[in-house]
Amino acid sequence: KNLVVAIDGPAGAGKSSVAKKVAELLGLDYLDTGAIYRALAFYLNAMGFEPVESPYLTEILSKIKVSLSDGCVYINGADVTEHIRSPRVDSIVSSYAALPTVRRCLLSIQREQAEEGGLVADGRDMGTVVFPDATIKIYLTASDSVRAKRRHLQLLERGEKVSFDEVLRQIQNRDQFDSNREIAPLCQASDAIFVDTSSMTEDEVVDYLVRLVKE
Ligand code: C5P
Repeated sequence: KNLVVAIDGPAGAGKSSVAKKVAELLGLDYLDTGAIYRALAFYLNAMGFEPVESPYLTEILSKIKVSLSDGCVYINGADVTEHIRSPRVDSIVSSYAALPTVRRCLLSIQREQAEEGGLVADGRDMGTVVFPDATIKIYLTASDSVRAKRRHLQLLERGEKVSFDEVLRQIQNRDQFDSNREIAPLCQASDAIFVDTSSMTEDEVVDYLVRLVKE
């Protein structure tokens, strides 16, 4: 069985950047599951599909092909990577991610990634649903204001004009929605290690996780 490092936690906890570096240092692949939920939400929204269960949604999902390659996400062969990190997708992704049909559609593509070799995967239900037998499970979090500050900085760097308060409100809403949905809600797996990164630098978090995996 391949080594799987499962990292879950709320928005802006630094999961993606940390997971990517941990994967690099350990020579493992990195799987950003948020990216595939974002890609699918972006696509369904652009196609005019409301985030509600319906026979049409089931039908279209059965025909959609989601694929990953070199850190890019493709829907039916089209690279959508550039579109998935916008504030617009931030605000719609959770309502699509809460739909059972959407989650079912994305389950196998996530599990397939662990068949090739070792994997560091980050998301909301890595340790609870997708990789329940992961080698090690981490629940990565930080205070609301620290997470909002990090996310705000990322958005400013991308040239997005948003205020800190707006970002704070947005991640609090998203976390609340993700934690209260019926299927695969955001929560800490019972066997996950809780890591609060509020007063840690990114390098400190990376070092700590690498040490945990090696133990
Ligand atoms: O991690 P990221 O912020 O990119 O995730 C975007 C959204 O995708 C989350 O807020 C959540 O609604 C959804 N998601 C999920 N399960 C995952 C990863 C992401 O529901 N494993």
